[in-house]
Amino acid sequence: MRLVKARDTRPELALRKLIYSLGYRYRVCDKSLPGRPDIVFKGKRKVIFVHGCFWHRHDGCKMTRFPKTQREFWANKFLENQARDQRSFKKLEELGWQSLVIWECEMHDTVAVQHRVEGFLNA
Ligand SMILES: [Zn+2]
Repeated sequence: MRLVKARDTRPELALRKLIYSLGYRYRVCDKSLPGRPDIVFKGKRKVIFVHGCFWHRHDGCKMTRFPKTQREFWANKFLENQARDQRSFKKLEELGWQSLVIWECEMHDTVAVQHRVEGFLNA
């Protein structure tokens, strides 16, 4: 599990750096908001989540391999994670916040991520 854990924060840091370099200012991990979004743009009422493909089950992504042991445990765990995500998005929406999810694997293409982030923030 060490590999998965170590990977967990790196995409988030990379994204924060990228957004900062674009000139946007944000708050990090606002615990007062549903789902504790990773990056918060208070004035715009927009949040960005950086999701690990494994934990949040990125659809069709090859980083989403299923563990070979304790399958039932993992299946339940993943269902819980996904349900929690959906609840958070819904709650945020009800509070008037817009959410964007950037997947861990997307960070390999920073140009594409930059376009998505800018499109989201300037909309
Ligand atoms: Zn992915």
